Amino acid sequence: MRFEIITIFPAFFSGFFEHGIVRRAQADGLVTVHVHDLRNFTHDRHRTVDDRPFGGGEGMVLKPEPLAEALHSLGIRPQMRSGGFGTGHDFRPAETAAAFAGTFAPDTSAADTRVLLLSAQGRPFTQAAARELARLDRIILICGRYEGVDERINQLYCDLELSIGDYVLSGGELAAAVVLDATMRLVPGVLGNEASGEFESFGVPDLAITSDVEGVPRSQHGSGGLLDYPHYTRPAEFHGLRAPEVLLNGDHQQIRRWRREQQLRKTLANRPDLLEQAALTPEDAKLLEQLRMEQAAATGS
Ligand code: SAM
Repeated sequence: MRFEIITIFPAFFSGFFEHGIVRRAQADGLVTVHVHDLRNFTHDRHRTVDDRPFGGGEGMVLKPEPLAEALHSLGIRPQMRSGGFGTGHDFRPAETAAAFAGTFAPDTSAADTRVLLLSAQGRPFTQAAARELARLDRIILICGRYEGVDERINQLYCDLELSIGDYVLSGGELAAAVVLDATMRLVPGVLGNEASGEFESFGVPDLAITSDVEGVPRSQHGSGGLLDYPHYTRPAEFHGLRAPEVLLNGDHQQIRRWRREQQLRKTLANRPDLLEQAALTPEDAKLLEQLRMEQAAATGS
């Protein structure tokens, strides 16, 4: 899989790619990352990438021409882009779709490429989005700066605006690094142990687990959209706190049940919103009801 990052601060990424899984994935040839300096696509003495906003207001805006030129150098042409992660679903507002319908020839060279604009105004980037992106051949990430990017770049070239959370960063570089990291580790072969991508917070449900080995009992559940359970390692006792006894007894069924309960507890405590979309079995639902009653009794509500 190939990542292309367009930025005015290419040096931002230099340390980031030299550690851990990102470095190993590149060394193993599973992922390549190319960082493109937006200023290389300017033609004036000052290498200008920004200009004042039409209509007045604070700050500067990234000009469209250098970004368009950078995208052209990567084989991306202006068109009504696919508007999604690759699911075929068009996320664009109807008026944008109508305005561009039939205007440009389909860009077949970009069949398995998605152009993503990092933006606080974007769709939320989630683990499910990372799973979708990990199926693609190439992802182009555009890092905004200042007040953002001239909107016509979004309309003409971007498949999706993507936000990494409800806060405003000073630039898209951190957001691009987040999207790259979360996506790249889901590319097949990147994680040493394939299974570790399946048993994590926001993961797939049990039914979708592909790494089971026949005849080997599993001590974990697919999270099915819940948070992960707590983890412990040696020593068994630390500062007077013992690791839960159930984890030390080697009974896979009991460990599995305990972990599921912990996933439900943590999710109820920290992210109750996730429970609405989670894949829960009737047994989970019963357990959750008990935990809710426990919680109500503890808080007196
Ligand atoms: N005027 C913009 C707004 O209010 O939405 C904020 C611009 S921000 C200061 C500059 C750049 O940081 C954006 O163009 C975008 O690329 C990036 N950025 C900021 N917050 C982000 C977020 N939550 N997710 C992804 N990118 C973000």
